[in-house]
Amino acid sequence: TLSLANRVAQLKPSPTMAIDSKAKALIAQGNDVVNFGAGEPDFDTPENIREAAIQAINHGHTRYTAVGGIEALKKAIAERIHLDTGLHYEPDEILVSVGAKHSLYNAVMALVNPGDGVLLPVPYWVTYPEQITLAEGVVQYVPIAPDHDGELRVEDLEKVVTHASRGLMLNSPSNPSGVVIRPSVLEEIAQFAVAHDLWVISDEIYNRLVYDDTVHASIARFPEMRERTLIINGVSKSYAMTGWRIGYAAGPKHLIKAMASLQSQSTSNPSTISQYAALEALTGPQDEVDAMRREFDRRRRYIVARLNAMEGLAASTPQGAFYVWVNMAAWKGRQVGGRVIRDADDLALAWLEQANVAVVPGSGFGMPDYFRMSYATSMERIETGLDRMEQLLESAE
Ligand code: PLP
Repeated sequence: TLSLANRVAQLKPSPTMAIDSKAKALIAQGNDVVNFGAGEPDFDTPENIREAAIQAINHGHTRYTAVGGIEALKKAIAERIHLDTGLHYEPDEILVSVGAKHSLYNAVMALVNPGDGVLLPVPYWVTYPEQITLAEGVVQYVPIAPDHDGELRVEDLEKVVTHASRGLMLNSPSNPSGVVIRPSVLEEIAQFAVAHDLWVISDEIYNRLVYDDTVHASIARFPEMRERTLIINGVSKSYAMTGWRIGYAAGPKHLIKAMASLQSQSTSNPSTISQYAALEALTGPQDEVDAMRREFDRRRRYIVARLNAMEGLAASTPQGAFYVWVNMAAWKGRQVGGRVIRDADDLALAWLEQANVAVVPGSGFGMPDYFRMSYATSMERIETGLDRMEQLLESAE
């Protein structure tokens, strides 16, 4: 048989995809599964954006563009970043890629040398450690002290940083925890990054999805940070455009140039049609972003209240993104539906197999006593799913 390269042999399939495919298989067999696994908005892409894509096709925008994206889109991105962070970026400090995941991949490949330590706060989005490993970097996991309520602090970083540390992966608002790091804490993290001469990849893909009076700040805006930070964002989550595959990075010119070189030898430009759609998303009316955010907010409140009313579950209120992160440690050692529960993997299996509900166990995010539920699904389905989860727990010995 064909022998494969070592780098693919060590790759782990995304655990969020694993439960999703199991749920989908059950659905395909005719089961009515409530799926809390989705990492994408349930809304359709707004009509003005769809229309812009159709116009792009009809106007002949169907050929290659510059590798890093059309100038108009880069300018629109620069304006969006200016609105969000107050920082100015020039078009040659911006690279458009095939989704934020691709932006992250380019970034890690351009920054990480074999053996470089990369600090990664736990819980983390599943893709980060895999990309760092692909680049032969060393993942330096940073547990967050229990009394920090899931918010990364310098104290946590100090315990893990070594002379081998070169960079820090930040994701606020966080997938999976929904935690948004406060500006004052972010400023301390910035000082830490400067003191240890670290680069920072700041994945801000959920920055438009924050609730209550939460303020999202970019670490790039603190002193001496712009030159060592790469901002990652995209249109997938804010504009319900996951299938269009447009993400972007903004940072120092030489880094952007290196990432563009990588991209020029792998994908070339992201879809021309999608770029025109993203241009409309960023420059057109923004009211749908807010309408979606309000609906997420309503669901978020409901789901958190219901979960906390269930025995042995503890959900903190997410300040951003569209996930609830739930501690299930109180169920460890007990039996649910005849199954002994050792961790959230077992509980997720019990719910999937006996209650037709799919949640994502926390093992893939580095915290096996937690599970993640996405509220990017209708209120009606959320109610049904929570009822089923509650019933199964109530039937437990
Ligand atoms: N970053 C985080 C934290 C995410 O949760 C996701 C999607 O789940 C992405 C990046 C990838 O987004 P995109 O669809 O633009 O590749």
